[in-house]
Amino acid sequence: APTLRLDRLLANMGYGSRREVQQLVHAGLVTLDGETVEDADDRIVVTRDLSERMFIRGKPLDPPPGLALMLHKPLGVTCSHKEAGPIVYGLLPERWRRRDPAISTIGRLDKETSGLLLMTDDGNLLHRIISPRANISKRYHVTLDRPLRGDEAEIFSAGTLMLEGEDKPLLPATMEALSGTSAYLTIAEGRYHQVRRMFAAVGNHVTALHRDRIGDLALPGDLEPGQFRLLTEADLALIL
Ligand code: URA
Repeated sequence: APTLRLDRLLANMGYGSRREVQQLVHAGLVTLDGETVEDADDRIVVTRDLSERMFIRGKPLDPPPGLALMLHKPLGVTCSHKEAGPIVYGLLPERWRRRDPAISTIGRLDKETSGLLLMTDDGNLLHRIISPRANISKRYHVTLDRPLRGDEAEIFSAGTLMLEGEDKPLLPATMEALSGTSAYLTIAEGRYHQVRRMFAAVGNHVTALHRDRIGDLALPGDLEPGQFRLLTEADLALIL
């Protein structure tokens, strides 16, 4: 585990400037393993259990660097810092938005797509999940404008479908019809607007899109839109 000076760790976690966190320490407001920390330049071994062992103003430390979380992304919220309007980062606690390394989304969902979105501040984890070679499956619940024709599952599973403007066919995908106008679609890539464009390619139109699974990790039924939860090692093992 990395070690960091306490003042740098807390400043990087958004608790204030180096100066401000030094003042917090000197005011006796930081404890570790039940003892008041005296020196802001003490080196701290940054382990996951630090949030149970360190308290700031009597409150457990935020999750230390190396975190991963799942968010139930609501409709109408974008995954980009660059767009106007509400963004997924606005759903995290204020202080978490000032962290360095910053927390970013692992892949993206469209503004009008809801469901399971992963976020992390761990660059290695990010790359392991979004790497084109990882081919981690993602399942979408799709609602359609027009009835399914009946040949969609076969077309999607063939691994020959070309999307407009692209020069490489899509990998095979699995579709399971749920009704005349709804289905699960499981894809192993993440091309731009992929699910919407796949249904456009078979003459249909997606009216609602919700991701409920990444790998074997399912969006928990009790995680409401806008809420998030930290991922455990066991959760990550369901993805990787
Ligand atoms: N495919 C889409 O078209 N949109 C998403 O948000 C995700 C997959």
